Amino acid sequence: MRIDLHSHSSVSDGTDTPAEVIGYAVAAGLDILALTDHDTVGGIKEAAEHLPPGFTLVPGMELSCAHKGSSVHLLSYLFDPDEPVLQRELRRIRSDRASRAEEMVTKLQEHGVEVTWERVLEIAGAGRDEYADANTIGRPHLARAIVDAGAAKDVQDAFDRWIGSGGLAYASRYALDPVRAVELVRAAGGVSSLAHPGRAEGSWNESVPLELVERMVDAGLGGIEADHPSHNSKQTRYWRGVAGDLGVVVTGSSDDHGSMTGRRLGCRTTDPEAFEQFVAPATGASLIKG
Ligand code: AMP
Ligand code: MN
Ligand code: MN
Ligand code: MN
Repeated sequence: MRIDLHSHSSVSDGTDTPAEVIGYAVAAGLDILALTDHDTVGGIKEAAEHLPPGFTLVPGMELSCAHKGSSVHLLSYLFDPDEPVLQRELRRIRSDRASRAEEMVTKLQEHGVEVTWERVLEIAGAGRDEYADANTIGRPHLARAIVDAGAAKDVQDAFDRWIGSGGLAYASRYALDPVRAVELVRAAGGVSSLAHPGRAEGSWNESVPLELVERMVDAGLGGIEADHPSHNSKQTRYWRGVAGDLGVVVTGSSDDHGSMTGRRLGCRTTDPEAFEQFVAPATGASLIKG
């Protein structure tokens, strides 16, 4: 049983449609995949319509949080997507993502970079009616526009030069307090795992502080994504240890973004017993079987 609990589609900043993501997951030999687009469940329906027999989709989302100026990402699963408080927060995050991206476009233009808002929207696929307002705009879309404009050699370079935290055209955005986010997901019947804790972009040298993780666990955090392609073996060992000490499950996943990250579904996986234990408390939604 091969389980990958973190992936993105073109509904957020991945490059493949939800249907294509499922196709790549099957080709990668996975049995269970969570689609976890940033701040939206807008791709779940399409993904669910493309499951082959025997394949299981875990409905999920990667929720944007921030603490003391650094980003913290919360992988959230099996919550009720219609729960009103969570839904209101998601709308606010998505709309602020759009205004923030527009703000960065203006800053880029002030620096002579020839990007336009229309081009960014086109790259983000925001015009695709099947996603309507459910899709999210992210910096990777802006990064591709910057590369197109000839102001960076690739996406990584666009982050380094322009839109990474502290970059010349960087703008911050609305995000949730991580402890409150854990509570919101739990109140909506879902379960959550702290995404790539060794890689929290911002001011703390890219690692989520332990005191925060402890408070998140007290609030109901059920897992820590110790196995992530951006973690080196020392970070993986460290965060596995933290999960063990705090009595939560270790999750592992690819965080695939299609061609942007190199297609890598299944490069990290979650142990089947850990998965069972992790999802057991969820009541907000069901696993979707093909
Ligand atoms: P945003 O959600 O708009 O804040 O943008 C963050 C997203 O950009 C992450 O989910 C990654 O997909 C991507 N990302 C963050 N940092 C980098 C980087 N240094 N190089 C390339 N992609 C990045
Ligand atoms: Mn992303
Ligand atoms: Mn993330
Ligand atoms: Mn991700």
